[in-house]
Amino acid sequence: MISKQRHPKKPIAEVLRRAQEEGLLVVELHKGHRWGRLVCPDCGEQMPIYCTPRVPEHHAERLDKFRNRHRGTPKGEHS
Ligand SMILES: [Zn+2]
Repeated sequence: MISKQRHPKKPIAEVLRRAQEEGLLVVELHKGHRWGRLVCPDCGEQMPIYCTPRVPEHHAERLDKFRNRHRGTPKGEHS
């Protein structure tokens, strides 16, 4: 299930929105520093999403790289 809740840090929220548009899953957790995780439904790889990373832009960048690697490719082609 895809939640409508926005990540509190704008650069991260933007990346998550684009990732969802491209077919990746955002699973919310809200546990300690973990806001949730970004999941690729094709290969099952995941990446943790933090609530309040020290530098939100850096965390957004890493999530964006994950997005780039896993977006909209046919099953297994990117792994
Ligand atoms: Zn993948």
